[in-house]
Amino acid sequence: MTVYSFASGPSALPREVVAELASDVAGYGGSELSALELPFSEGMFSDVLAEAERDLRALLGVPPNYRILFLQGGASAQFALLPMNLAGRGRHCEYVLGGHWSRRAAAEASRAADVWVVASGDGCSLPDPKSWRRSSDAAYCHYTTNETADGLQFHALPDPSDVPLVSDMTADLLTRVLSVERFGLIYASAQKNLGAAGLTLVIVREDLLGRARQDIPSPFDYTRQAEAGSKINTPPTFAVLVAHRMLRWLRNNGGVAAAENRSKAKCATLHEVIDSDDFYRCPASLPHRSRINVCFRVSSPRAEELFLDEAKANGLVHLNGHRDVGGLRASLYNGVSEEAVDALAAFMTDFKRRRG
Ligand SMILES: *Cc1c(COP(=O)(O)O)cnc(C)c1O
Repeated sequence: MTVYSFASGPSALPREVVAELASDVAGYGGSELSALELPFSEGMFSDVLAEAERDLRALLGVPPNYRILFLQGGASAQFALLPMNLAGRGRHCEYVLGGHWSRRAAAEASRAADVWVVASGDGCSLPDPKSWRRSSDAAYCHYTTNETADGLQFHALPDPSDVPLVSDMTADLLTRVLSVERFGLIYASAQKNLGAAGLTLVIVREDLLGRARQDIPSPFDYTRQAEAGSKINTPPTFAVLVAHRMLRWLRNNGGVAAAENRSKAKCATLHEVIDSDDFYRCPASLPHRSRINVCFRVSSPRAEELFLDEAKANGLVHLNGHRDVGGLRASLYNGVSEEAVDALAAFMTDFKRRRG
């Protein structure tokens, strides 16, 4: 039986990428050494890092005045590192609370800086960027483009402002066409859309470097990592290789525009089943529904347990909602195939027919 994962993370990877990685681990580039054995300071790994950066720049159209850092600690480490790197002395940071992950980001930041909440959502919809109470002298304004736990996503960008926009794009980076120049800084954990856990990307505009507080540890200092080519200490070499393979797969499959089309098609397939009658319910309001994390409910917790059990028996796994939210959730990151989504939609239709 084919098994398809809809996990919120680490995500499914394309089968071709997994096969390539299996060969990389057995012997890298036709050698007897495994990809796990590449020294980080030497040629082969430097090539992997440079090619990954080049592909990422090409895919997203990253302008030359932005630096790309390959860091560790996940998006969660960045929650605390953002104010330490960007807020300097005495400046406040603005946060939009759209759901679970942006609340976590603001809570961590508030330990290192003065956090002003400029807008909040209600769990089912996101605050319209036009209603954010932004000031003109904040160090930055932070929002989370896709709320993975709540199944919500901002589909439009906020208006430009002098205050740099900082965004957690862990869940939707490389799933939609993006104007990087509208942001001061973008960060994302790799395990959702571009590979394996252990790598965190930070894309930062050069003029925001040099603002870190003095006591920040050097592996977490954006400026020092930029100067050192992300090699102040050992980078997560294997996770960087996985990202490299995933970025090349994206390039060979039509780039980000094609990824966006696949993403729209995958979520439309599920919403067609969900919206066909009132057996399934999607709590997210229509304009803010996430294309990446489709959250839905059926009539009762008991029916949801049954759904999960039967789905699993059919090879459709990791469909449970976030532990704080409950319900059901299908995460449709870049590595989740249209074939997997078709199999889930067919199962959902069948489950409804039998249990509705
Ligand atoms: C998964 C996720 C995180 C957490 O990432 P970690 O790598 O576990 O720190 C943060 N933000 C968003 C939007 C996520 O989807």
